[in-house]
Amino acid sequence: MTAHRNCEQNIDKAPHRELWPQWRRIAAKPKISQSIRDLYDQLDQEVSQRNPTCWISGRCCNFDQFEHRLYVTGLEIAWVLNQSPLPPEHQIDRQAPCPYQVTKLCSIHGSRPMGCRVFFCQEGTENWQQKLYEQMMNKIRDLHVKHAITYRYLEWRRGLAEALEQV
Ligand code: SF4
Repeated sequence: MTAHRNCEQNIDKAPHRELWPQWRRIAAKPKISQSIRDLYDQLDQEVSQRNPTCWISGRCCNFDQFEHRLYVTGLEIAWVLNQSPLPPEHQIDRQAPCPYQVTKLCSIHGSRPMGCRVFFCQEGTENWQQKLYEQMMNKIRDLHVKHAITYRYLEWRRGLAEALEQV
């Protein structure tokens, strides 16, 4: 299991009601949105150079069954929801697979968050995944600092549920 899907360090468990409208607004700004897209594109290029295999089992998006978690920043959740909205009435089941998984496939492949882009269950890929993830997380943190954006690191389904409550 690699740390980006299972890294409980620095997890923020406090509620963020007041932050979601800010993150949604900031993530919609063209400059910020493009910066996030550029980071994801850069990550995709780095991953493709390492040529890992995905067997499209869909297991890694079924967190409880796979016994791991996906952690992301609040800003990333806001960005994903801006690109690929879930209806506000959508109920996030914290025990269920990712709400964007449809018949084993990711329905938001182009806008999936960073942790999903770098994770592969292929044996032997853990070390480079970890290093690459840390490099990219530093860049995400830098983006927050540069634009004075509040940084929080959250479990994916919990963050999505909170964000939808604030729509
Ligand atoms: S966003 Fe896509 S790749 Fe990431 S956990 Fe959800 S379904 Fe899987």
